[in-house]
Amino acid sequence: MSNSRQLLVADIKGVGEKTAEKLHHAGIYTADELIHFLPRKYEDYSQLTQLSDIKPGNVVVTGRVSAIASKYVRRGLNITTATLSDDSASISVAWFNQPYRAKHLASNQKWVMSGEFSFTKNKYQLLNPSVRSDQEIIDEGSQLVPVYRQVAGLKTAQLKAIVEQIRPLITMLPELLPAAILKKYQLSSYADAMLALHFPTDRAHLESGRKRIAFQEILELLYAAELNKQDTMRLDAWSIGFNKDDAVKFLGALPFELTPAQKKSAWEILQDIEKDVPMNRMLQGDVGAGKTVVAGMAAFMAAQRGFQTVFMAPTELLARQHAVTLEKTLKPLGISVGLLTGSVKKSAKIALKQQIEAGAIALTIGTHALIQDDVQFHKLGFVIIDEQHRFGVKQRQRLLEKSSKMPHMLSMTATPIPRSLQLTVYGELSISLIKQRPTGRKPIITEIQSPIGRTRLYKDIDQQIAAGRQVYIVCPLIDEGPDNEIKSVEAELEILKKTAFSHRRLGLLHGKLAAEDKQKVMEQFTAGSLDILVSTTVIEVGVDVPNATVMIIEGAERFGLAQLHQLRGRVGRGEYQSYCYLIPTEAKSPSQRLRELERSNDGFYLAEKDLELRGPGEIYGRAQSGALNLQVASIGDTQLLYTIQEAIKYAADNNIDLLHYESMKQRINHRRQVTTLN
Ligand code: ADP
Ligand code: MG
Repeated sequence: MSNSRQLLVADIKGVGEKTAEKLHHAGIYTADELIHFLPRKYEDYSQLTQLSDIKPGNVVVTGRVSAIASKYVRRGLNITTATLSDDSASISVAWFNQPYRAKHLASNQKWVMSGEFSFTKNKYQLLNPSVRSDQEIIDEGSQLVPVYRQVAGLKTAQLKAIVEQIRPLITMLPELLPAAILKKYQLSSYADAMLALHFPTDRAHLESGRKRIAFQEILELLYAAELNKQDTMRLDAWSIGFNKDDAVKFLGALPFELTPAQKKSAWEILQDIEKDVPMNRMLQGDVGAGKTVVAGMAAFMAAQRGFQTVFMAPTELLARQHAVTLEKTLKPLGISVGLLTGSVKKSAKIALKQQIEAGAIALTIGTHALIQDDVQFHKLGFVIIDEQHRFGVKQRQRLLEKSSKMPHMLSMTATPIPRSLQLTVYGELSISLIKQRPTGRKPIITEIQSPIGRTRLYKDIDQQIAAGRQVYIVCPLIDEGPDNEIKSVEAELEILKKTAFSHRRLGLLHGKLAAEDKQKVMEQFTAGSLDILVSTTVIEVGVDVPNATVMIIEGAERFGLAQLHQLRGRVGRGEYQSYCYLIPTEAKSPSQRLRELERSNDGFYLAEKDLELRGPGEIYGRAQSGALNLQVASIGDTQLLYTIQEAIKYAADNNIDLLHYESMKQRINHRRQVTTLN
């Protein structure tokens, strides 16, 4: 066999055309990709549980089988059941749609089964376990058997045989880390580690492999972020000088006092932009924490020093809202504010762009429209990006390119970022935090409501409306498919109009409305001339109507925890007690996600929970999913994160080049591109 890892899977001995195709479907084209297709888990046949000691969870048990029965309970569903007994006790076992099990188990011998022992169909049973005879285990050569992710159409044994074929290539995998690091942190070589993951001889062997690969994965993430940060630090930026009188002037123009957390964040930003290296800072604060005014203060300072600021928001609604609030504060101070969005009329747009280019507008607020090529600045010193996760890397990049020097950048997010992600994916950012909300606000009361209780709920809510308050009702989708029960906004509006709220003023908001219609509805709602706004998640970010005190979220189980928390943040923004009602589609027991939301108003706690419940890929989606492609390490392993931080420092202090090996250089370069936030 050729020793190239670029070898195509089709050229591996024993892999025919059909098998190759199946591997292609799983995204595996080369031997190298197969090498990095790591087992999902391991079955450990050395860790047998006595049946009398069995507890719910993953177990490996052994015994003899009796009472085997297999039947079709309905079309497409076959259930095979059996009893497994050892000297101590008996348990029930069941397989779904594996009718061949009955025949296979018929021979009277000892079997070893591995699977989940859990409570289903009103009793405890071992569900869909894998089954091996004693002889098969001996043939495996190890009691620790890797289980790969399913490759459709390939039996586990076939896949293992193919991996066995490329064992020589794994043995020859080149090293990635300098020997000094391996030694200090007691890590096995890369080749040995990969061998251990594919062919573990025992627990200790497997653990040594896992330790090394986890170290590798996190090191790549952290080091890529570190290198990106160092690159940013080498760039030139304009220094935006701090002036105390200006700060006092700005604060004096506000209708309120900044909270201590706002003051601290503002101070961190003002200190950063005074330097001649570009700031790359993220301002994190729960919804309603008051981030906008902090950004506004820095924009004011920039304007006073003769620099322009651009402030990009993800939606027209938000951009408009920011423009209104910031203009209120800044215009009396002599700062010109412009709003540039897709719906600004063509002639006005041309005039605005000319003013921006001439430097006559100090603060330009807008949407994606800002990144068009024909938007040019006179002297752009400061870039603010609201709800940064809504923008792609390229969009942020294009905004930064509108300056002859690197502008200072402040990104803002209301999605709290767990500590582990701050260190890894967001490692190149400095972070400012606003944890408290402005005073005088009561915590929102959140309740999960059964769909059956809707009528009663509507009665309570009607009293709120009678008292002058306003209500949001959020539904998951725009179009109602013929066979789904998900409420659509339009259908929901029609029902409400005809029933519980026929005497109230209702409005409709969704993403497919024209920009001016959206704006009109929001203006009506803000002005209090609508009682209820039936909406999709377009109201998720930023919308600020302090008089709205009730939020109903229909189909609540469809939303992620962070998103639910964002939605909930649309209420509780004024002096009144606010309520959030979560209504799942079905009246079954609520998910843990909803219970967590009911229990906590703390966005940071919820973000950690969300990460735990769904994993980073689900939450941080497209932009960062490549960067979070961890196979062995857990992003929540903060102990490991700190160890790696220390290792990177150790390497720097001791002149150890972490990029010594060519393959490492390539991997890091790839990571740097996927994680970069510039
Ligand atoms: P977010 O952090 O969600 O972007 P905003 O900047 O929209 O929050 O602020 C939410 C609301 O709180 C706005 O109406 C804003 O004027 C108000 N606000 C901000 N800071 C304070 C403060 N220190 N005291 C009182 N109200 C404040
Ligand atoms: Mg905001």
